[in-house]
Amino acid sequence: MNPNPYINEDLQALAETVRRFAEEKVKPGFLERDKSREFDRALLREMGELGFICPELPEQFGGLGMGCLAAGVIHEEIARADLSFSYLNLLASLNSQILSKYGQPEVVAPWLEKIRTGQAICAIALTEPRGGSDAANLRLKVERDGDFYVINGEKTDLTPVSCSS
Ligand SMILES: Cc1cc2nc3c(=O)[nH]c(=O)nc-3n(C[C@H](O)[C@H](O)[C@H](O)COP(=O)(O)OP(=O)(O)OC[C@H]3O[C@@H](n4cnc5c(N)ncnc54)[C@H](O)[C@@H]3O)c2cc1C
Repeated sequence: MNPNPYINEDLQALAETVRRFAEEKVKPGFLERDKSREFDRALLREMGELGFICPELPEQFGGLGMGCLAAGVIHEEIARADLSFSYLNLLASLNSQILSKYGQPEVVAPWLEKIRTGQAICAIALTEPRGGSDAANLRLKVERDGDFYVINGEKTDLTPVSCSS
């Protein structure tokens, strides 16, 4: 494996470990998953047990606090074996960074634990039909109605995952 000049020895060792896992566990089921359109939830939980999901998550939320480069290194190696499956890493990192930075800890902590351990898959619904770049100018409204929230608006281009535990 050619050393990557942009990462240090620790991240290089991480890349080699993840590549072995990806070759042995992710690559073999790639075509089957592609045909069935189903996520292998057990494989995702196994990645969670190994610390391969949002490694950059702060230790306060049970993460390894390894920084975004580690998440990038893991994502790259999983994508080498199955690009679609590696989207789960991307979404877990993207959403857990937003939740851990802006969410109330007592509200987000249980969800971050589920995302980190591969028990939950989280989608992000930001883009609207009138454009995605202008994310500060969204039209969708969420209004509280008693014990419920009423969501009024449209979203589009969502990476298709269902959020469940
Ligand atoms: C594979 C994939 C997965 C995605 N998954 C998700 C997801 O899970 N959740 C989600 O919310 N969205 C998702 N998206 C949507 C993505 O976030 C949007 O495509 C992105 O934000 C750009 O928005 P747009 O496509 O509407 O393009 P627009 O915002 O309409 O932009 C069109 C073009 O105009 C340019 N442009 C825009 N504004 C300006 C400006 N002010 N000045 C100059 N040029 C400008 C843009 O650079 C672009 O080239 C996904 C997109 C892809 C391709």
